[in-house]
Amino acid sequence: MSELAYKRTNVYEVADEAKMKAIFDYAEGYKTFLDEGKTEREVCAYVVKAAEEKGYKPFTFGMKLKAGDKVYYNNRGKNLYLIRIGSADVAKDGVRIVASHIDSPRIDLKQVPLYEAENIALAKTHYYGGIRKYQWATIPLALHGAVILKNGDKLEVKIGEDESDPIFYISDLLPHLAAKQSARPLGEAIEGEGLNIWFGNIPYTAAENDKDKTVKENVLKILNEKYGMVEEDFLSAELSLVPTYKAKDVGFDRALIGAYGHDDRVCSYPAYTALFDTETPEHTIMVVLADKEEIGSEGVSGMQCAIFSDLLGEIAASFGVSTAAVRANSKCLSADVNAGFDPNFPEVLEKQNATYISHGVGVTKFTGARGKSGSSDADAEYVGYLRKLFADNGVIWQTGELGKVDVGGGGTVAKYIANMNIDTIDVGVAVISMHAPYEVVSKADVYETYLAFKAFMK
Ligand code: MN
Ligand code: MN
Repeated sequence: MSELAYKRTNVYEVADEAKMKAIFDYAEGYKTFLDEGKTEREVCAYVVKAAEEKGYKPFTFGMKLKAGDKVYYNNRGKNLYLIRIGSADVAKDGVRIVASHIDSPRIDLKQVPLYEAENIALAKTHYYGGIRKYQWATIPLALHGAVILKNGDKLEVKIGEDESDPIFYISDLLPHLAAKQSARPLGEAIEGEGLNIWFGNIPYTAAENDKDKTVKENVLKILNEKYGMVEEDFLSAELSLVPTYKAKDVGFDRALIGAYGHDDRVCSYPAYTALFDTETPEHTIMVVLADKEEIGSEGVSGMQCAIFSDLLGEIAASFGVSTAAVRANSKCLSADVNAGFDPNFPEVLEKQNATYISHGVGVTKFTGARGKSGSSDADAEYVGYLRKLFADNGVIWQTGELGKVDVGGGGTVAKYIANMNIDTIDVGVAVISMHAPYEVVSKADVYETYLAFKAFMK
């Protein structure tokens, strides 16, 4: 290939020994982060702790911020803003924003979940985000979340992660009797109302009334003895089923990481670690760990919530400058995953314009569906700025779009930030089997994404 032609770079092809060590060492911290945080609440708590250790203080409205200040805003324990005030004039330099999300597709319990059928206690669910339902049957699931009890106390729940814990389960048909199910379209193999969780099988034989000698009653008795819960407490609960799997190296060479929730913790981890590791104090930096991206970024903890603009307003007010000026001069990396090229399914991606695992951080100029519908489509000037930034800082990157034209599509938080007059582009890691209970990414790409964020922040 001539010098004139464009060619992607394979990170593992060009990395020297020191770089390989850096890539592999960085992956260890990421794997711990994945195992410790499987819901937005857990990730939020984990990063708040890390931020406090780095000297970040809680932000309160009206606080007068000055250069060098490090603050965080914990929005309801589910959405986090980390802010470091730089020495540059925020009216002219704006804020460097890296926005990722910390919610992942999963299965939520309904508000009245418990029932019993044929001596089995089960729980009704409503899935969260874009899952392929059949993938969630016959795998070990853990129950995570929070219950607000009648007296207002909050009960934090995490069952199924310890080796000694029980796990939870969704059944599927045996192949011997699945002829009809197998003939149905894959998306209908298991239906939404079929994602029922196995909770118990022993009846409460000690009950006084015969009608209470049920398995469901026994489950309620266990919940009451262990957690002080009654059935009504599920009404004010947020309980989610997530895979119990731990993050593991994949392949003989350990190049890849398998885990639940790479989308989008694989961008969240590089975002906040890059912030902590950036020593140069010039730019004001904001790292957003958003909730609710998987269901449209709506609501009080989603990217569309006014808290984002409120915080930019608070920064502007601290220096007596216009929020509009701060926004106009800000830049944002919408840090989210893209689909990695999978040789098992080459037909859905267009080879020249797909992201490839281990070929560096992916830059996605536009998302959306059909004729780019629903995308903010970053301009050539902003891509050009990023291209130069990455070249100057030795960041290995690639471009890529989500799938062939008209095959499907998707979106991220990018458009909500771009709509506020902030230059925004999608940047992130290529994922294999996105939204599956166990997704795969390349260690090299995670590290390159970290380098990309550092270059953007410094
Ligand atoms: Mn995502
Ligand atoms: Mn997603």
